[in-house]
Amino acid sequence: MTAYRDMSREELLELKSRLEKEFEDVKGKGLKLDMSRGKPSKAQLDLSMGMMDVLKSTSDLVCEEGVDCRNYGVIDGIKEAKQLLSDMMEVPKDNIIIFGNSSLNVMYDTVARAMTHGIMGSTPWAKLDKIKFLCPVPGYDRHFAITEHFGIEMINIPMTSDGPDMDLVEQYVENDPAVKGIWCVPKYSNPQGITYSDETVHRFAKLNPAAEDFRIFWDNAYGIHHLYEDKQDYLIEILMECKKEGHPNMVYKFGSTSKISFPGSGIAAIAASDENLAEIRKMMSVQTIGHDKLNQLRHARFFGDIHGMVQHMKKHADILRPKFDTVLSVLESELGGLEIGSWIAPRGGYFISFDALDGCAKAIVAKAKEAGLIMTKAGATFPYGKDPKDSNIRIAPSFPTPEELEVAAQVFVLSVKLVSIDKILG
Ligand code: PLP
Repeated sequence: MTAYRDMSREELLELKSRLEKEFEDVKGKGLKLDMSRGKPSKAQLDLSMGMMDVLKSTSDLVCEEGVDCRNYGVIDGIKEAKQLLSDMMEVPKDNIIIFGNSSLNVMYDTVARAMTHGIMGSTPWAKLDKIKFLCPVPGYDRHFAITEHFGIEMINIPMTSDGPDMDLVEQYVENDPAVKGIWCVPKYSNPQGITYSDETVHRFAKLNPAAEDFRIFWDNAYGIHHLYEDKQDYLIEILMECKKEGHPNMVYKFGSTSKISFPGSGIAAIAASDENLAEIRKMMSVQTIGHDKLNQLRHARFFGDIHGMVQHMKKHADILRPKFDTVLSVLESELGGLEIGSWIAPRGGYFISFDALDGCAKAIVAKAKEAGLIMTKAGATFPYGKDPKDSNIRIAPSFPTPEELEVAAQVFVLSVKLVSIDKILG
């Protein structure tokens, strides 16, 4: 493969006219494809259908602590759900609170609580002139939407293959008291699939924040979402690490079963130090008399224990792996050596992150749309929807069928090639 930049103008023009013809043919097919949604496919949702049979009208609906799950009570979550989720999140079961159906909701509430009431006696963030959050980029748009919603200034922190640039993180956190938080997706990150290295986690735990109410928002949404049995990433457990370093209160850890059972109908949890949890419980007891215990019971009985959940995740992986492989092999065979884009082959999670030539992402997404392929909006992976280089595109291979994906990946690479040629030709 010759890199596009090494081709002559004539060669590029000739290639362009060939690719344009190909593109017109594809357009003529009236395709309707979508690689924008990080959702499990129907086949994946079907894996959890047994959960619907776990609770019947004749079932005993009393949980381990002897409470009838049909009724009010047990604000923290039932014992068996706490055991399951604490094993999933690798924390002691006394350091977890089970919430409702969405971890994003818990993250929103956590920021909202800090805004209105402050953290452990510190000034409520809303009363301060300026509040800042560090945002490793590319990252998860819904994290950024929460901080934008509350008027919190967001600062881009570039991701490296080991996680966020820790020199920058330390510089901001340790010197600027307005920096109150950082969004982290530490394992199989959204969208790059990067897992933070041991050194990165150590450096997080060793942070000496300028603000006493600084918190790490550790969203381990893809903690057990491996694609391969023989190639799995390992992440150091942050709660224990912060405790060891003498900063037990510095982290809020979030998780949910959204991409394990049913997104929107799973269970979510927060894990944190005793002191943090005591404060959260206080607010919770005003907010609710308790979350959906029947759903907690259904999850606990369906999975049995963490081993059941791990086995279940292997079935997800069997469905997801060929889809990732399809997209990655099309990227490799069609774009390898052309030097018009780069990507990382992840070992887990839900996404492949593609970096186009600078200034090309928006045009590529628009081009793909012309041919009937919907991609995640360019810029979505950055705070305020603004990718300074206009280069990053998130690819979500989970939802389409394998056949659709093959076609979608071809449309994508064709769009990348055409837009890149225009860029090089100037
Ligand atoms: N966190 C990350 C990093 C995600 O990618 C997603 C969904 O895509 C969520 C959280 C949403 O989680 P939940 O369904 O528990 O609100």
